[in-house]
Amino acid sequence: MTQIKQPSNSKNIYKKTTLKDYSSRVSVLSEALPYIQKFENKRIVIKYGGAAMVDKKLQDAVLRDIALLSSVGVQLVVVHGGGPEINQWLEKLDITPKFLDGLRVTDSKTMDVVEMVLAGRINKQIVGGINIHGSLSVGLCGIDGGLIEARTHGDGSHGLVGEVAKVNTELLSPLLDNGYVPVISSIANSADGRSHNINADTVAGELAAALGAEKLILLTDTPGILMKENDPSSLIEKLRLSEARDLLDQGIVRGGMRPKIECCIRSLAQGVKAAHIIDGRTPHALLLEVFTDAGIGTMVTGRS
Ligand code: ADP
Ligand code: MG
Repeated sequence: MTQIKQPSNSKNIYKKTTLKDYSSRVSVLSEALPYIQKFENKRIVIKYGGAAMVDKKLQDAVLRDIALLSSVGVQLVVVHGGGPEINQWLEKLDITPKFLDGLRVTDSKTMDVVEMVLAGRINKQIVGGINIHGSLSVGLCGIDGGLIEARTHGDGSHGLVGEVAKVNTELLSPLLDNGYVPVISSIANSADGRSHNINADTVAGELAAALGAEKLILLTDTPGILMKENDPSSLIEKLRLSEARDLLDQGIVRGGMRPKIECCIRSLAQGVKAAHIIDGRTPHALLLEVFTDAGIGTMVTGRS
């Protein structure tokens, strides 16, 4: 009889696993059943960014969770940001980053790099990472299938920074219905064919609305929306649409958190049931959010 060889470093782990451990694992799995049934064939849009994209171990855990959600029948769309990799490549190519009002000024040289890094390397790493865990994923950007049309942001002084002008999700439905996980980088062409870089939160929110998603989940580097930006104990666990608008007006959310709240508001107003801003540094944050009552991060709901 063939002996199954245990990996040498796993010996102790197996010895220490007691029946009690297994029982609690199985009960967690059993408690997930109503959630698995609730979300089967339902759509969830995930914005993947922050530390969970930079740290390799966290990245692998997130991609595994995505594969798991997809294998139990949840229709997932992943929109990703760029992380610090774009800056690293700009540096390597001697392009000095320029900022205006906290936003990157994207000239055509910078845009070339953004497009190569975002729609090339980063997108393919995510696609490959999901595939390795046994779900099939397809890498796209807003240009593919005319998924997103961009409009230049503001008066054009930020260069090729875009907003979402139109969304056409025709390409996504057959992919989702056949179990593929579309992984989308937030680059789109304007009507005159120029490539623009759009904030990935904004793209995720617009896609969630256009796809009639049950949930929009934004993975980031903070526990959620905080009343005081640097105080994790000031986490706001639940917010209604009207309260989210107040937070923007009162200036409690700044910087990168503003597009997140704005896209939650816009997607909820268009029928998405709930939007969640959760901490991608928490192991299995996605599974906790979808399969348990644990209620991590901040949940924004449509009832105002
Ligand atoms: P991501 O890469 O996930 O898009 P961003 O850096 O763009 O992350 O946005 C998240 C950042 O928003 C946080 O790290 C924090 O510095 C900032 N922020 C501003 N106001 C708040 C707030 N009220 N609560 C939480 N984070 C906030
Ligand atoms: Mg951001």
